Amino acid sequence: MTPRYPGAVWMPVGQDLGANNGPVSFSWHEAVTTGSKEAIAGWVNQENSCHGFVAQYGDCAQYKDFDRVAYGVLNGNSKGVCTWETWDDLLPATNRSPDGSHGPNDFPWDAGQCERIADIIAWANHVLGIPIHFMRATNEPGHAPHRLGVPSAGGNVDIGFGPDTWTSHPGKECCGDLRVLQLRDHIIPRAAALAAGMRNGSITTLPTGDVDLATALQRGGGTPLEDTLSAAEVKQINDHIDQAFAALAASKATQYGASRLIDNRYGLTDVVQAVAHKLNAIPPVAKK
Ligand SMILES: [Zn+2]
Repeated sequence: MTPRYPGAVWMPVGQDLGANNGPVSFSWHEAVTTGSKEAIAGWVNQENSCHGFVAQYGDCAQYKDFDRVAYGVLNGNSKGVCTWETWDDLLPATNRSPDGSHGPNDFPWDAGQCERIADIIAWANHVLGIPIHFMRATNEPGHAPHRLGVPSAGGNVDIGFGPDTWTSHPGKECCGDLRVLQLRDHIIPRAAALAAGMRNGSITTLPTGDVDLATALQRGGGTPLEDTLSAAEVKQINDHIDQAFAALAASKATQYGASRLIDNRYGLTDVVQAVAHKLNAIPPVAKK
């Protein structure tokens, strides 16, 4: 059996739809929901719509094994593309938050969700062999927002499209701009650091339930990074990330193309990818 992510509560629901020829990659979505993993289980039981769900504060459930089909990504469903849905605090009736303050493209994953997703990506690299890679095409192994397979995707962060189509509803932004940027520029590098620790035995996956951030963020404690990066390099990366997200928040730059803002002004993508490659290059050998 394909291993299950140990930080998720296993809640098998729905039908067995057969083998999916994977897992090869994980697609990341936002479910338009204010609900819990139990509420989503009811939906998956009816629609077979995803493999797992990351709820508010990083609480997490897995509903299907990663080598089985779920109906999340149309032409990717039988090509090993798994579907992870996430809580986005939006009401289906309005596509806005209950207090009306935010919609799909101006609200990020919370910190617990970010750490949970990084943990899932790190575990999937260590145990399933899925690369810690922000996909540029739907047929690559790695991780991608759903919109990589959405024709004429909404939102302002252009990450490309195809070649496979992952939806019968063109134009959706899934997942929103800020979440796309979190995945590419923050979560992927964090996952690389966590995976390095998992390989050398210094880090274990998060427990089930809401993420205890104070404990979770101590993981690594600088140790995995110190093995591969100088203190100056770590500071440079942290400064780049801080600057980029401060500028993003200050300018509400999603309206103008946050992706280009970050890419051009700070070169963040290059820095982050260099770090990810460096951390990925650590051989799976136990260290003292
Ligand atoms: Zn989606």
